[in-house]
Amino acid sequence: MRRWPRASAPTSRDTKPKPPWQAPTDKWHALDAEQALARLTTTTSGLAEDEAGRRLACHGPNLLQRAAFRPWWQRLLAQFNNILILILIAAALASLGMRHYPDAGAILAVVLVIALIGFFQEGKAEQAIESIRNMLTLRANVVRGGQRALISAEALVPGDIVMVESGDRIPADLRLVQASQLRADEAALTGESVPVDKQVAPVPGDAVLADRYSMAFAGTIVVQGTALGLVVATGRTTQIGRISEMLRGVEKLRTPLLRQLDHAGRVLAAVILSAAVFMALFGIMVHGYPASEMFMAAVGLAVAAIPEGLPAIVTIALALGVQAMAGKNAIIRRLPAVETLGSISTIFTDKTGTLTRNEMTVRTIRLPNREYAVTGTGFAPEGRFHTPDAPEPLDPTRDSDLLNLLKASILCNDAELAKAQEQWQIHGDPTEGAMVVAAIKAGLDPPTLRRHHPRFSTIPFESERRYMGTLHAVDGHRRLIVKGAPDRLLEMCIGFRSVDGDGPLNAETWHEHIQALSEQGLRVLALAERDVADLDDPQLEEGHAENGLMLLGLVGMYDPPRDDVVEAVAQCLSAGIRPVMITGDHAGTALAIARQIGFVHTRRVLTGSDMDCMSDADLANCVMEVDVFARSTPEHKLRLVEALQACGGVCAMTGDGVNDGPALKRADVGVAMGIQGTDAAKDAAEMVLADDNFASIVSAIREGRKVYDNIRKTIAFLLPTNVGQGLSIMVAVLAGITLPVTPLQALWVNMVVAVTLGLALAFEPPEADIMRRRPRDPSAPLLDGFMLWRVVFVSLLLVTGVFAIFTWIMVYEGGSEALARTGAVNMLVMGSAGYLINSRFLTRSALSLQGLFSSASVWLTIFLVTGLQVAWTYTPFLQGIFGSEGLPLSYWGVILGASIVLFLIVELEKTLLPDSTVEPGP
Ligand code: ATP
Repeated sequence: MRRWPRASAPTSRDTKPKPPWQAPTDKWHALDAEQALARLTTTTSGLAEDEAGRRLACHGPNLLQRAAFRPWWQRLLAQFNNILILILIAAALASLGMRHYPDAGAILAVVLVIALIGFFQEGKAEQAIESIRNMLTLRANVVRGGQRALISAEALVPGDIVMVESGDRIPADLRLVQASQLRADEAALTGESVPVDKQVAPVPGDAVLADRYSMAFAGTIVVQGTALGLVVATGRTTQIGRISEMLRGVEKLRTPLLRQLDHAGRVLAAVILSAAVFMALFGIMVHGYPASEMFMAAVGLAVAAIPEGLPAIVTIALALGVQAMAGKNAIIRRLPAVETLGSISTIFTDKTGTLTRNEMTVRTIRLPNREYAVTGTGFAPEGRFHTPDAPEPLDPTRDSDLLNLLKASILCNDAELAKAQEQWQIHGDPTEGAMVVAAIKAGLDPPTLRRHHPRFSTIPFESERRYMGTLHAVDGHRRLIVKGAPDRLLEMCIGFRSVDGDGPLNAETWHEHIQALSEQGLRVLALAERDVADLDDPQLEEGHAENGLMLLGLVGMYDPPRDDVVEAVAQCLSAGIRPVMITGDHAGTALAIARQIGFVHTRRVLTGSDMDCMSDADLANCVMEVDVFARSTPEHKLRLVEALQACGGVCAMTGDGVNDGPALKRADVGVAMGIQGTDAAKDAAEMVLADDNFASIVSAIREGRKVYDNIRKTIAFLLPTNVGQGLSIMVAVLAGITLPVTPLQALWVNMVVAVTLGLALAFEPPEADIMRRRPRDPSAPLLDGFMLWRVVFVSLLLVTGVFAIFTWIMVYEGGSEALARTGAVNMLVMGSAGYLINSRFLTRSALSLQGLFSSASVWLTIFLVTGLQVAWTYTPFLQGIFGSEGLPLSYWGVILGASIVLFLIVELEKTLLPDSTVEPGP
């Protein structure tokens, strides 16, 4: 029911009375939290769904305007910003000036075709990348109708209540209603790099943005603590929306490889232009050819020799890789990562949720003098308690110590259990969820218990702190409950608590219990409490929790490894990639899980405190040998990345927390978790895993290797056709013989080959041994000795073929010059088609059924090119332009035979290659 008056007959926009939640105010920070809630007619239980829907219809989605796509005409114009196209246009104009109208027309037609193809390919690549970006939309934890729900941040409306915690990006402008040790990094908004402490109390109305401590602003990041906030502005009315309408531009399709290619292209263009000028001058001065003919020959040489299709094909190969990776749950945020993935030698990975399922189930509860086993799997609250050596179920309600521990575990806990579509789900942290489930198995009712013992204050769990503390009303006084990593809690306890009487703490015995549980691969948490009658201020601080606690017991929970991780780890090892576990968990648990997964060769585990005692040089010595790093913090992750890079390694690093940012940025490929990961981690990462699964990193590496392979294959294929054509023209001019291929014809070949045949290799599937090779050496040049050899070798073969066919038709068959050229051009194209099949495998033989016929894209383009060549040879229109002539059928037989011979010679060359070229990389 709406509570604001509605205008009966609005006469104009200005006179229409606004509902209170629409009334704009810039002074939310100066209002009391209650006043702000009242102003937006809401409570901390949130809006009802239908009311939220109405407000959404009125305010529109909570979106900032996206940076617009590059308009189509800009993309089209950008195609002409290319040295080769400019040379071609200059040549067309010069031809016009010299009244070579057909040449000028053909050159312009070719320019247009090349530009259009680049235009469409780039457009498709940009779209592919943009659609992937949309997979990374922001989500928000809201309270609506008293229920927590995870919704898309776009659906937030003024009046919504939002919960945020460390690592979250604030989804809209919030007036804080509750805040616990909240600090926000507001650099995105104010430029201030030091995080700001936030509070609930109002601040003066004239406070500047940076001093509005009672607000949390959209786009900023929570670096510590938790809070409940009231949405006061969404979308373009937020502070960040007002400052800038642009969120983030579409990432440029530029990667180091593309830049390297661009650079190489410019150098090549300069070399080729000089060769062309030299050739033209030589022709005029030595052989006395007419200048206009030499000009066209020079243009032909330039056009023929420059691989203009290459950048577009590389872009397509990268975009295809990005798409394939997204299909395998690896979302690329920065394009260069596609290339880097192929040379990864080490994957530093988190354990919980990445190697394991993050589906915790409490298996064991250790009390001061007895132990219980708990049955059941997953989050279904069905299971029983029994002693470890007798499977008969026991009644847990008869053990007050057990109930006390379970009650404490529910109170110092933010998770909730819910059933949706017949599936039990946890809202919140699965570690805490497992405790809720165990308590329900024991017959407790978490909501009732939480109502009876309201919480005054919280010290939120942070990985660095390793514990969480809450303050409650229990039996008329205040009780502090703490749960956390047992080794940490033992340092904070002075004794243990039991209904039979409290006792002194025997740390050694407890450490044995912890060790025994962790060796079974269980994650262990301890629970402790203390009464704090002395605490006047109900606001908890760390000092309150860190001493004088009484230990209640330990909880051991199992988190099974993911099904596909064992296979993925095996793949890594065969691919020369070392998986390394970095976890906040106990060393024993980490080692047990690592063994189950099968990637550990060494018995050695280093813990965070071990690393703290090591110099960077010592750590660099260990990093290549140790596979498990336990009890580590984000700072340790950063040190490990640096240590590995100092040893020349290339690494991927996973992360989810707000503090993982530096390690993710420093790693060669930072990988953030899509589900568990904070927005801060995603921002810092190159790649986001939609399913948080380690196996998806391995799939992405496989794709990365494939993309790089296909780019190498494309280069190895395209360069010889270009060099071959260029050489044919040059040799003919220098030797003073008739050109076997006219400049216009070279233009045709170049276009046909570059945009059809060359493209086929971008679609090649990965080779069977792609994950059995060692990682690629990142410093190895693209055009290494082997590639250069291959380019020169095949270029010479093509030139030989062209001159042989040309001479045979003219001299031995007595054909016309036009007929001989037609034969030479078809030889060049068909020879390239044969070499395309060779190029499917750079070093392995293509002489097998699979090698010859398994690629649909290769054969499709070969058929397409054959069709184009037939049209080029026989249609009067194209004959008129290119000077081609109908070839007798028998000539085709000779050309085909010569192409097959060329194919076989390259296959022979592969078998004679030295072994060192067979496996690229170190
Ligand atoms: P990773 O994801 O890197 O493998 P992790 O998730 O296992 O590490 P953390 O979440 O940093 O590591 O947890 C470290 C330790 O803190 C755990 O072993 C556990 O004992 C304790 N712990 C984990 N979650 C909580 C929590 N919600 N409250 C209290 N203690 C916790």
